[in-house]
Amino acid sequence: MNEPLRILPLGGLGEIGMNCLVLEYADEILIVDCGLMFSDLDHFGVEFAIPDFSWLRERKQKVSGFLITHGHEDHIGALPFALKAGIRAPIYASAFSAMLLKERLKDHGLESEADIRVFRDGDRLPFRHFSVEPVPVNHSIVDAFAMFIDTPHGKVIHTGDFKIDPTPFYGSQLEESRFRKAGDEGVLLLMSDSTNVERHQHTLSENRIYETFENLFAAAEGLTVIAMFASNVARIGQVLSLAERMGKKVAVTGRSMDQNLRLAQELGYCVDAPNVVIPVEEIGNHRRSDVVILSGGSQAELGSALQRMAHGEHRQVILQPKDRVLMSSRHIPGNEKIIGRMINRLFKQGAEVLYEAVHEIHSSGHASRPELKRMLEWTKPKFFLPIHGEYRHLVHHGKLGEEVGIPSDRICVVENGAVLELSDAGFACVEQLEEPRVLVEGRQGGDVSKLVLKDRRVLGERGVVFALLVRNEESRRIIAGPELVSKGFANETLAPHLMDEARKLVKKLINEYDRNLREGQPEPDFQETVRVELRRFFERNLGHKPTVMPMILDI
Ligand SMILES: [Zn+2]
Repeated sequence: MNEPLRILPLGGLGEIGMNCLVLEYADEILIVDCGLMFSDLDHFGVEFAIPDFSWLRERKQKVSGFLITHGHEDHIGALPFALKAGIRAPIYASAFSAMLLKERLKDHGLESEADIRVFRDGDRLPFRHFSVEPVPVNHSIVDAFAMFIDTPHGKVIHTGDFKIDPTPFYGSQLEESRFRKAGDEGVLLLMSDSTNVERHQHTLSENRIYETFENLFAAAEGLTVIAMFASNVARIGQVLSLAERMGKKVAVTGRSMDQNLRLAQELGYCVDAPNVVIPVEEIGNHRRSDVVILSGGSQAELGSALQRMAHGEHRQVILQPKDRVLMSSRHIPGNEKIIGRMINRLFKQGAEVLYEAVHEIHSSGHASRPELKRMLEWTKPKFFLPIHGEYRHLVHHGKLGEEVGIPSDRICVVENGAVLELSDAGFACVEQLEEPRVLVEGRQGGDVSKLVLKDRRVLGERGVVFALLVRNEESRRIIAGPELVSKGFANETLAPHLMDEARKLVKKLINEYDRNLREGQPEPDFQETVRVELRRFFERNLGHKPTVMPMILDI
């Protein structure tokens, strides 16, 4: 008990996405979730960000398990990279999360290397110093769990992503009694989802969406396209069940939509699929108003089914007036602009587009302020750590904690990389790790050696060199320069020396050019000479050629 309990959020605090939280006690580490982040990273060709695993790599012998709360990408997407970084431990996940995870690992050729252990409600996962009870919660994906983690210092609750839905399409409302019971017995620390702390209305029940869809289906005069996250199996299930009841046909387009429907059926969800699902090639055989299309691409992902429809390039689905597109998902922050452009294009194709801001066609998977307050009141934690949110969400959630009576010195509002220690002495940040994130290029991200930190290494390896010269327009003589400017083409210790040598080379070229001029020889293309000679020079000295851009200013 002398050892403190250490908590280190590697991702998810200060931003939405990349959720990953480390619990350490003595010689043991548990990792809750291991996700990636897509949004707002469309610079330098970076596809997504993952947590920086260096801290964990140094302690990999201690890692005894990954606990997966649910199967969203921002909770499982970085696991293949953790495995590649050499962090190997059993991965504990619910049945649907495990299925999605296996698909993800297959993409990376790692399916045989992961030790995935499926848990269900009622299981208890034993470790050396910890003991974990997964407790079901409501969320926008089936099979989502909170983690009740018994530690040598007391019980820690990690809510995962949750909301309190009195009428979910699959399963039942999360069991208040289990959270209350934990609260009565004593909760040392609550870590709770902060995403929707700024929303004051209770989150819309999935039931309400069902009613809205029913009305829209009944009034359809053309095709109905529903764009949503493929992982929202309950939403898919609702659409199929409504279609069955109303005599509609459903076609599915998009790779992950196909995949998730198949996985969901394997687990016994979406039982109406065999009766209503038709191949997308066959939609022409049915009355247009009787067809519903389930489509991926709600975030306007490049090449996605919905983007292709928006550009009139989808082979089977050509939109027409009276068709309707329902955007039944949240716009992930950072994607608003491209989604906006796609919506405009869909309108231009003649379709009407309905989205969350205007119609009740999406319900968030995250608890709003009143629900978060109930969670705090049920669990009555001694200490409180708001998680899963941008910084302002964490601050507001922290304030909510104070409102329900938690003293402010027992609430930690911190960002990724904060090493927190919890002991009898209190709860405090003892160290802050530097920016614990790694940017990844390319969908697969190659292997770990190809990960790029902050700046693109490619720029550092190839880079660009500008050579600036000033020439007298009449005499044609070079009167100033060369000024050489490089951007990330060689490492810092090598660059000054190389640039000096390059400058000498260009001066030599200028002298030759001057001599030719004086001797009345035909004027060569001096700009091209400088470009070719400099590239040769750098290739000799660096082994590769940077882009060289000579610029001669005639005055
Ligand atoms: Zn989630």
